[in-house]
Amino acid sequence: MIPPGETIGILGGGQLGRMLAMAAAQLGYRCHVFAPEPNSVAAEVCAAFTCAAWDDAAAMARFAADCAVVTYEFENVPVAPLAALGAVPLLPHPRALETAQDRLAEKRFVERLGGRPAAFAPVDDRAGLNAALARIGTPGILKTRREGYDGKGQWRIAALADAAALTLPGRPLIYERFVEFGAEFSVLLCRGADGDVRFWDAPENVHEGGILARSTAPAGPLVQSQIAVARELSTRIADELDYVGVLAVEFFAGEAGPVFNEMAPRVHNSGHWTIEGAVTSQFENHIRAICGLPLGSTALAAKRVEMRNVIGDTVEDWPQILSDPANHLHLYGKAAARPGRKMGHVTRLTLA
Ligand code: AMP
Repeated sequence: MIPPGETIGILGGGQLGRMLAMAAAQLGYRCHVFAPEPNSVAAEVCAAFTCAAWDDAAAMARFAADCAVVTYEFENVPVAPLAALGAVPLLPHPRALETAQDRLAEKRFVERLGGRPAAFAPVDDRAGLNAALARIGTPGILKTRREGYDGKGQWRIAALADAAALTLPGRPLIYERFVEFGAEFSVLLCRGADGDVRFWDAPENVHEGGILARSTAPAGPLVQSQIAVARELSTRIADELDYVGVLAVEFFAGEAGPVFNEMAPRVHNSGHWTIEGAVTSQFENHIRAICGLPLGSTALAAKRVEMRNVIGDTVEDWPQILSDPANHLHLYGKAAARPGRKMGHVTRLTLA
């Protein structure tokens, strides 16, 4: 067990790190952020900040010397430089990072565990794309295998003509069949160091332009009917990775049951509602898990919870949002609003 007063290292400097650090502070820990970008909204609420390139081994070793445990808030942290952490525990295990960083490896891993992703094929060049289209058909989505997020690095292919018109980006890709889903949802779980697994209500998620727009718990009847199967697969994933911390697994609710989309080996945007909407938030339970503390209750704290993201450069009327007592406003302190950028979120509780 890591006692309060010790320092938790966080790899990545975004809003997920910020909310992890705020939960850690509540439990008496200090946090140290490592991130390559000088403007870090996580570092603003932390005791220490190392701003260095991921492959700066000396900086990584100095950072590790200050930390009792290290975790990550960003799944594209390169794995090789993490060797410089030495004997300091890194949780969740970096094998989760390696698996989630490559969409192809991730889907094969999940299939091996009995999960059902959309039909997929690796694509390395034009001939590979043609072969994938011949086998899988259209509509589909071509995605970069690595480093895509929030709909970036994705091309929709409605018909063969779209594929012909596309200039391939010269990076390893994956082609996936488009899933005709009734809804999207995510399984949010936390696995403790002792293997204890807790689930929050699985939220129903709505994406707009590839970016999460809203999450609602409890989910509607279609999702409800598929949660048990999805949770079972998610538990197998967590057990197989000897996972410690919060894991998010995204699914499409299809006609024949849940279709695996992707997993995030970290706290997740679709779990932000747990800050006010659950007895223990995803951020607190992640900190508890990596510090070897008992996990808190994941029960809903309201009849219904809805979270919506504040995205892009729209100017919202903050006092107006706050004037409704059911709303909780979270702003991440990002200076520059850009289209598609997550600036904050609003959680709305319905108590009765
Ligand atoms: P991803 O980054 O892969 O999670 O994709 C972002 C969003 O794009 C998903 O949440 C879906 O709304 C949509 N999407 C991605 N892949 C598929 C697919 N194979 N079929 C249908 N919709 C998809």
